[in-house]
This record gives sequence, C-alpha cells and structure tokens, in this order.
Amino acid sequence: MTVMVPSTTPATSRPVPLGRQALDSALFQFDQAADHLGLDDGLRTMLATPRRSLTVAVPVRRENGRMDVVQGYRVQHNISRGPAKGGVRFHPATDIHEITALAMMMTWKCALVGIPYGGAKGGVAVDPGALTTRELERVTRRYVNEILPLIGPEKDIPAPDVGTDEQTMAWIMDTYSVNAGYSVPGVVTGKPTTLGGSLGRAGATSRGVRIATLSALGRDPDGVTVAVQGFGKVGALAAQYLSDAGCRVVAVSDATGAVADRGGLDVTALRAYNKESGGLYGYRHADALTHDELLELDVDVLVPAALEGALTAENAPRVRARLIVEGANGPTTPEADEILTGSGTTIVPDILANAGGVIVSYLEWVQNAQASSWSTDAVDDRLRAMMDQAFGEVRALAAAQRFTLRQAAHAIGVGRVAEAHRIRGLYP
Ligand code: NAD
Repeated sequence: MTVMVPSTTPATSRPVPLGRQALDSALFQFDQAADHLGLDDGLRTMLATPRRSLTVAVPVRRENGRMDVVQGYRVQHNISRGPAKGGVRFHPATDIHEITALAMMMTWKCALVGIPYGGAKGGVAVDPGALTTRELERVTRRYVNEILPLIGPEKDIPAPDVGTDEQTMAWIMDTYSVNAGYSVPGVVTGKPTTLGGSLGRAGATSRGVRIATLSALGRDPDGVTVAVQGFGKVGALAAQYLSDAGCRVVAVSDATGAVADRGGLDVTALRAYNKESGGLYGYRHADALTHDELLELDVDVLVPAALEGALTAENAPRVRARLIVEGANGPTTPEADEILTGSGTTIVPDILANAGGVIVSYLEWVQNAQASSWSTDAVDDRLRAMMDQAFGEVRALAAAQRFTLRQAAHAIGVGRVAEAHRIRGLYP
C-alpha cells in the first residue's frame, strides 16, 4: 500500500516543487520500511502523517522601515518516544512539504540511534544572507513567538540547521526564557557554551560523518580521495576531520562555487578563506570547477552535505564515487538511490551518517537537565559509542536481510517507532 499525504500542490504540468519532491522521497523510504515490517494500514497512515503542523506569518521590520511578511513553519512529525526534536532552517525556498519531510527523517533518526525523542523541524522562508544581523534577530524572535505554544524542553527542542547557528539558538533561548520568566537553557540545543551549550556540539554532525565514513570504508583511510558538496557547518568540518584522519580531500563546494586539487586541498586554509570572504568563490590556491563536476569526480568517497535532491536520476549514472556518505538530509532521490546501489555504490544514509548532531544535542539536553557540563572527551566518547552501536545494528540487519544500508536503517528506525505506538495503544 502506498500512503498518501494530501498535497496542497495543484495538479498541473509544472515541475514538482523541491519541497514536495523531498516529502515524496521521505514517504517512499517510509513506505519501503513499512512494507518490510508488514505494518497495518492504520499504523502506516498514522506514521506517514505529521502529528502537528503549524504555519505562521512572520512580519519583519527592515532597516529601511519597510515591513515584509515571510512564512514560518514548525512540524512535529511524531512524539511517541519522547519530545519532538529537530533543527530550524532559514532558507528562501523552504516550505511546509520540505519541513514535513525533514521532521519525518528526524523521527526515524532519533529512533535509530536510540535517543528518547520524536521528530520535528522548523523553518522560515527567508534568505539569511540578505538580512542584517538586527533583521535576522527580529525574524528569529518573532518566529519563536509565533511557535511558542509548541516548543519547550519537554515538548519540542529546536537546534541549528541550514542558515541558522549558535547565535540563532541564543536568540531562541532568550525569547523563550523571557516569556517563561526564567532561563530555560534546555529549550534549544546547539547554543553557545556560555549559555549551556555542550562542548563538542559544534563539530558533532561532522564527527559523526567521519565515524560513518571510516566504518563504511573498513580500511586505512590514508590517501582515500574525498569530495565534499557543501562547505557550511557540516561540510567544512567533515572535510577537516576526514583530512585529519588521513584522507585526501580533493574537492569541496558551496553555493558560491567549487574548488579542486588532485594533490589534496589545504582544508584549514580553505576554512579560513571561507570565513573571511563568506564563500569559496575566488579561492586562488586550487582549480575552479562546476557544481556538477564535483559530484561526478573520480573519487573514493562523496559527501553530499548541502541540501536535498543533489543526486538525481539525471546525474547519478555519472557519479563515480564508490562510497557516498550523506552528511545532508535527503541528498539522494529514490531514483538516484536505485541507480547508484544498482551499480554497486554503497550509500551510508542520512539518518545514520549525520546522526552525530542530534546525538550530541541529546547529550546537551541531558546536561542542561542535570545543570552540569561534561568534558569534550566525555561527549566524544558517547558520540562514538552511539554511532558505532547504530552503525553495527544497521550493518548486521543489512547483511542478514540483504538490505541496503538505507533500507536497514529505516527498518530499524520505523520499527522502533511503530513498536512504541503498539505498546502505548491508542487513546481513547
Ligand atoms: P549550512 O547552512 O551551515 O551550510 C550549507 C552549505 O551548503 C553552505 O556552504 C552552502 O553554501 C552550501 N550549498 C547550498 N547549495 C549548494 C549547492 N547547490 N552546491 C554546493 N553547496 C551548496 O547548513 P548545515 O547545517 O551545514 O546543513 C547542511 C545539511 O546537513 C542540511 O541538509 C542539514 O539538514 C544537514 N544536517 C545538519 C546538521 C547540523 O547539525 N547542522 C545535522 C544533521 C544534518
């Protein structure tokens, strides 16, 4: 059975919007898992449907006095295993479908790595690069005010995602706390350490990507060639950590451009350049290449760490990497997945590969609840143990059932959430 979530997209011959494509991909993956698990129709529909979806209008006063209104969203896909958990994305193209897809992925991810959370995601359809810092602060605070009834440390805990960072989390924490009348650090994760953020959170997703890459490689990483798409919070540090581990990072890209050096890029220098100039464009110590060329390079490992839908039916036949580690959420469409796995490429799926972020977010939330703070080593050790545990379970199921890693990861994640529903029963 195929589960349908009602679409607000009109049926026309226009191309399907990216957000709707992301949701269709997420539903396709869920459907496969539901088939493997033999879920009944009622449970399937329940798990395919977000528990709560809120769309809000966010008025923004611009520096020139004009008022703009942008759309904001918060979707709680599932809360059967614990509070909803998920990032907040600031991107002009975000929409309710994309946020729903990302919230669903969070549900399976949290279940897969064994943390007591459901899945959520939030977003504001705004280009943070086009706003001043003060405008960005006003957008953030107003958005938080609009979604205030949904969030809270026991209800729904936001974190950084595309276009947001530690500063955004600090504003969210402050806005929530002012409304509560006291400081509530546990309402967000990925906040600055001064406000109760965890040591090791900033690089956690990328550290998880490194753990997943080295586990999947299963051999000495020395000289293994890597290309990374996306040079933001996840991609830049993934490139750094893989380079530190001995891999040869030969190409990286961001929205402004892509650079390559077959001999290996100096990732530390690139990060410094990126920080200073706001992008990779214009970096002189490497060759420029196109975004498409980066994805099709002859490398051992490709790490898509930008946005959804990077690998499609169109470019997948030309992708030469034998190992793909999904730093981003949903970078591979189901059609591309079939082409790539059919040609023998191993794909470490997003809900496993980039789970390091939510794992350390959970550790941050636990530290906040205990009003304590752990050392970087303590956090890193737990991150490694939880990633290794999840990877081991996925690999074992994949081997036993002849599943791809993606199918195995979804079967475990969806299975745990379905089990929680069964045991809790239906009220009333
Ligand atoms: P970010 O905003 O910090 O970085 C995004 C990067 O992608 C930027 O460098 C941007 O320039 C680049 N980019 C955008 N379009 C591109 C294109 N067409 N080609 C190449 N690069 C492009 O975001 P982030 O937090 O690093 O998130 C990246 C991905 O990782 C997203 O899919 C996000 O959902 C996922 N993720 C993030 C975290 C986290 O902790 N931040 C955790 C898990 C998953």
